[in-house]
Amino acid sequence: MKNYWIFSVPLWAREHESVNTRVAYATKPGTKLVYSVIEYKKITKGVLQMNKTIVIEIGHRANDAGTVGGGLRETDLALAAGLEFKRQVERHGFTTILNRIEWAGEPLTEFYKKAANASPAAGIAFHWNAGGGNGFECYTQTNGMHLRSIELSSAIADEMKAITVMRPNPVRNCNTHPTPNGQNYTSLINSVPAPFSYCEMGFIDNATDRVRFDTIEKQKRYGVCAAKGVLKYLGVSWIEEGEGVQSPPAKSILYRVQVGAFADKSNAEKFRDELRGKGYPDAFIV
Ligand SMILES: [Zn+2]
Repeated sequence: MKNYWIFSVPLWAREHESVNTRVAYATKPGTKLVYSVIEYKKITKGVLQMNKTIVIEIGHRANDAGTVGGGLRETDLALAAGLEFKRQVERHGFTTILNRIEWAGEPLTEFYKKAANASPAAGIAFHWNAGGGNGFECYTQTNGMHLRSIELSSAIADEMKAITVMRPNPVRNCNTHPTPNGQNYTSLINSVPAPFSYCEMGFIDNATDRVRFDTIEKQKRYGVCAAKGVLKYLGVSWIEEGEGVQSPPAKSILYRVQVGAFADKSNAEKFRDELRGKGYPDAFIV
């Protein structure tokens, strides 16, 4: 019997695995991926495509400020961070589905139905916390997506370390999350057929924590770090702003002009230096 080895399986491709199939990939995930499915010891070939949609829930709405503290409202913070997240992932070639752009928004149950139908690659919710604590925590799905949700959440938490502190056990099961207004987040995020992370970015009623997000610019950093985490999880390399948008250097043919011929090397060097001094820094001797 011949053994086929799986050398790597990108995280986002794991839903394509089943008891009898394994996916091996030969190029990096992103666009087109040639893979081999080992099924009943038979190899078939195909192309695996990552869905390029990301679900974004921006916590709360106009008539629901969420938590408040120190003159800040959760709804505003979530909006600033969420929209920055959207901008960042779209910059990396993803499309997004989000529940609100400004103050209105559809009921969350409707939004999550729409999100589920979009077969997304991943999803995230932006919230802020209150009630005694400091730093970042996030909540995972509890169903079949659980392990991948942990991986996604851990990737986000890792990036958040650059701007905030971690709560004890920052990656938690969603069913341990308090349910203000009876909102059952577990069933909502479990309904998304992709890894999802419900993030509580910080504690709005904690003055120490608040310094980390008391301006819009600081709030946006939460969106940037979240985007870095989600993209890393999806196997997409982070591109710094401005990178990749410069026009590539023109394919240049260089014409060289000879401006002197010397029998004596030191004279040649002298003339070269003179040229360099006159605004031809590339002058050289052959
Ligand atoms: Zn909230």
